[in-house]
Amino acid sequence: MPDSQTTALATLCVHAGELTDAHGSPHTPIYTTTTFAFHSTQALLDVVEGRAAGSLYTRYGLNPTIQSLETKLAALEGAEAALAFGSGMAAEAATFLALGRDGIVCIGDAYGGTLELIGAQLPQLGLPTHLILGQELDRLDGLLAAGARLVFLETPSNPTLEIFDLAAIAARVHAHKALLVVDNTFASPVNQQPLALGADLVVHSATKYLGGHSDLTAGALMGSKALIEAVWPWRKNLGSTPAPETAALLARSLRSLVVRVQAQNAAALAIAEAMALHPRVKRVLYPGLPQHPGHALAARQMHGFGGMLALEIAGDGAAASQVADRLRLFALAPSLGGAESLVTQPSTTTHHGLPPEERARRGISDSLLRLSVGLEDPDDLIADLVQALG
Ligand SMILES: *Cc1c(COP(=O)(O)O)cnc(C)c1O
Repeated sequence: MPDSQTTALATLCVHAGELTDAHGSPHTPIYTTTTFAFHSTQALLDVVEGRAAGSLYTRYGLNPTIQSLETKLAALEGAEAALAFGSGMAAEAATFLALGRDGIVCIGDAYGGTLELIGAQLPQLGLPTHLILGQELDRLDGLLAAGARLVFLETPSNPTLEIFDLAAIAARVHAHKALLVVDNTFASPVNQQPLALGADLVVHSATKYLGGHSDLTAGALMGSKALIEAVWPWRKNLGSTPAPETAALLARSLRSLVVRVQAQNAAALAIAEAMALHPRVKRVLYPGLPQHPGHALAARQMHGFGGMLALEIAGDGAAASQVADRLRLFALAPSLGGAESLVTQPSTTTHHGLPPEERARRGISDSLLRLSVGLEDPDDLIADLVQALG
């Protein structure tokens, strides 16, 4: 196995964690097996009691295909250990239940499911939770002093691509002996490695860039061995381990992660630059543009600016809907990170449930369109946007 401290990310994507077999398969076979046999009771007890590594039962994640994927996932974020999950929300839920019982603070405009889980569902179990926006960061220290032990954020955030200073926030969180958990779905490990900047755990919706083809649902959690071991029993008994078939499909996709994300970075920048000059576009939100408020910070803490951007269309929400409806290559769908480009209007999808004044507080105007740039030719994508803008 390559050493993840010294080996480049593209090499780790291909080689980390891969197992061969008696036939010489160059990558890990799919073990659909649900249970594994032992040659003696002593050998079984060694695995059950944690003295020996080994396969045991697939829901526990003790399956060679799942463990091979987890070795690769850990390597990609420079982590000691990783857990694979059946979805990004499953990874978040297990993490919050295992480590968030003393209180959770969510900073900024997180994914809708995350906001619902932290804001509405976990409080039903008695977990104290707090949602604060980027402009309310001065509340963080008080909430930590009052006992919150887990801080969660996304950077770049959805959908306004707000950038948070991971090293600075990690220092504030650690001063209170709390944990910083970063949702790195938008950036992917190609563009940003939060653990190296001081985060304690990284969570991914692997459904997005890690899977990369809009054809699998999975999640991932990476961090120290101690923290991963604390979450493991929750994954086991919530039953949120991915199927071996999905684990193998995700490992397949990860082998091409670097080339995909680098192409998406380049295309998103080209689109952002072209749209910044278009008379029907009022504002382009993309951290790669010098006029973006988070540009300098993003240039410092990211290796690339990502494949996500947002356009504020001149006119009202209906005018923006019309642009979205006229697009031919960009499909109207609320996801991201796939090979095909997607467009969503947050006021009609991801943030539809919020009252208009709450959307305004978050900087989400009705005429905002969020783009997930795929792997098509960038000039074709720009031409599609230009024809749709009319
Ligand atoms: C999609 C998404 C999630 C949830 O992931 P699922 O795989 O759909 O459960 C979490 N965070 C972000 C940033 C996402 O985009």
